[in-house]
Amino acid sequence: EIKAGVLALQGDVSEHLDAFDRTLDSIKDIDGYEVFALKRPEDVESCQAIAIPGGESTTISRLIDRNNLREPLKTFSGGIFATCAGMVLSASRIVDDDDVKPLSIMDIEVKRNAFGRQKDSFESEIQIEGLSEPFRAVFIRAPVAVSAGPGVKVIGKIDDGIVAAMQGKNMALAFHPELGDDLRLHELFIRNLAGHLRV
Ligand code: GLN
Repeated sequence: EIKAGVLALQGDVSEHLDAFDRTLDSIKDIDGYEVFALKRPEDVESCQAIAIPGGESTTISRLIDRNNLREPLKTFSGGIFATCAGMVLSASRIVDDDDVKPLSIMDIEVKRNAFGRQKDSFESEIQIEGLSEPFRAVFIRAPVAVSAGPGVKVIGKIDDGIVAAMQGKNMALAFHPELGDDLRLHELFIRNLAGHLRV
């Protein structure tokens, strides 16, 4: 049984709800799951997985504090699946930006809007460690991680920028796998999480 919450403060919450639903539905050896929109601090520890969606990380950061979610998210014992603005929030440090207070879930240093104006949004085929075929990734005003600590497994890069990484049960992605039909990264996240839960 897996209970997955999508942090529902701002951003592409419904796409994440739908993608978790489809992923958990497709993994036959998981018996039973629930996916819900997470807003209350007391619901955090009832989950095994929490998605932090794409959106506007400054706004989400502010709403995390307003809803008393900072401590529960920082100490959450399950796995965090963070995309785009979520990746910014999952970081331990943000380069040249004081507006977002990151949660230090991943030992990564993140630069917001890293691809510049002319490349505001784009798609790119990325080689991901753990997937046999490339992943067509959608980037929208995306961040990159410019450095990662020793506990972090970098699984995808564009040039020198880290765009996909895992640490323990957590996964951070600079792009938006929840927007398409390719759920291999969701599946990788859930299978990795299930492996940890069984120990
Ligand atoms: N640039 C946004 C931020 O840093 C993230 C964009 C997104 O999530 N698509 O908040």
